[in-house]
Amino acid sequence: MTENKTFTMIKPDAVENGHIGAILEKITAAGFKIVALKYTQLSLRDAKEFYAVHKERPFFEELVTFMTRGPIVAAILEKENAVEDFRVLIGATNPAEAAEGTIRKLFATSIGENAVHGSDSDENAAIEGAFHFSGREVYA
Ligand code: GDP
Repeated sequence: MTENKTFTMIKPDAVENGHIGAILEKITAAGFKIVALKYTQLSLRDAKEFYAVHKERPFFEELVTFMTRGPIVAAILEKENAVEDFRVLIGATNPAEAAEGTIRKLFATSIGENAVHGSDSDENAAIEGAFHFSGREVYA
């Protein structure tokens, strides 16, 4: 994956609360092109692997329990400067600290249940995109 792509998940809280459509609308309105899209549910093994970098953190068990409790929407997004621009669009990890108009400010309820994931680097965007999608599922 090149540097004009990022990876996102609409997390179980936002799916449960009926925000899939509104979040995808915010994403496309901000100029991101959806090049891969999937409605799926993470297994415990998937979630532990995806969030392995956080395995020593005190909230790890809570995080994997949350991320596996219901379906998610996974997507690869394309835009110039995708990783950085998407982090701006979603806002701070804690919705209480997220800027007005950001996806987390609008749709998240807590630091744990914060509606969306966004890759934090081009390298992780490539790893995370490949975790969820095979090459033939990406339509760039
Ligand atoms: P992000 O890059 O903004 O998603 O934030 P991090 O990489 O720091 O954390 C990954 C995910 O772990 C966050 O999006 C939250 O879902 C969760 N998380 C982070 N901090 C906390 C916390 O203090 N408590 C809980 N329960 N979850 C957290």
